[in-house]
Amino acid sequence: MDLQTLIRDIPNFPQPGILFRDITTLLAHPQGLRFTIDELTRRFQGWGIDAVVGPESRGFIFGVPLAYTLGCGFVPVRKPGKLPGPVHQREYALEYGTDRLEIHQDGIQPHQRVLVVDDLLATGGTARAVGELVHQAQGELVGFGFVIELAGLGGRKQLPPAPVETLITYG
Ligand code: 5GP
Repeated sequence: MDLQTLIRDIPNFPQPGILFRDITTLLAHPQGLRFTIDELTRRFQGWGIDAVVGPESRGFIFGVPLAYTLGCGFVPVRKPGKLPGPVHQREYALEYGTDRLEIHQDGIQPHQRVLVVDDLLATGGTARAVGELVHQAQGELVGFGFVIELAGLGGRKQLPPAPVETLITYG
């Protein structure tokens, strides 16, 4: 299935000059959604993954069904102040300024094999911060999975060393 045909391009969102890759059209397509989760599952089955970790909010959309099919748990990474328990925190750079991501301190047990999942890899700042949170929680980071990679932004080079799987690549 050509998943790229199910992604809608929205010019000038969320800011002028940005071409946003909209996944809601893929999510609304029954065969496209099934194919996406099945394909991510096929890529990561047999890796011995103990937990899928995904950042809000689109990392939740793909991370939870993938954790379900892999037979492991899902651990959310959230913006500051959203998680109720004690957290590890990581600051990361945005185009202008910084932001922070948090994970529950007891979300990952030491040495658990962890897969990081998000909808899209752009500059890599978000996924890198999530990977660093996994390290902070003493998890073993075994890979990254994305539906979309914007390869021209070089995000892969920013990530901690681990295999990266993506289903759709834009140049
Ligand atoms: P990065 O931190 O790699 O620069 O940006 C990736 C993060 O921003 C992901 O969490 C992703 O959800 C969001 N993001 C950035 N650009 C886009 C886009 O064009 N489409 C979608 N769906 N998400 C984007």
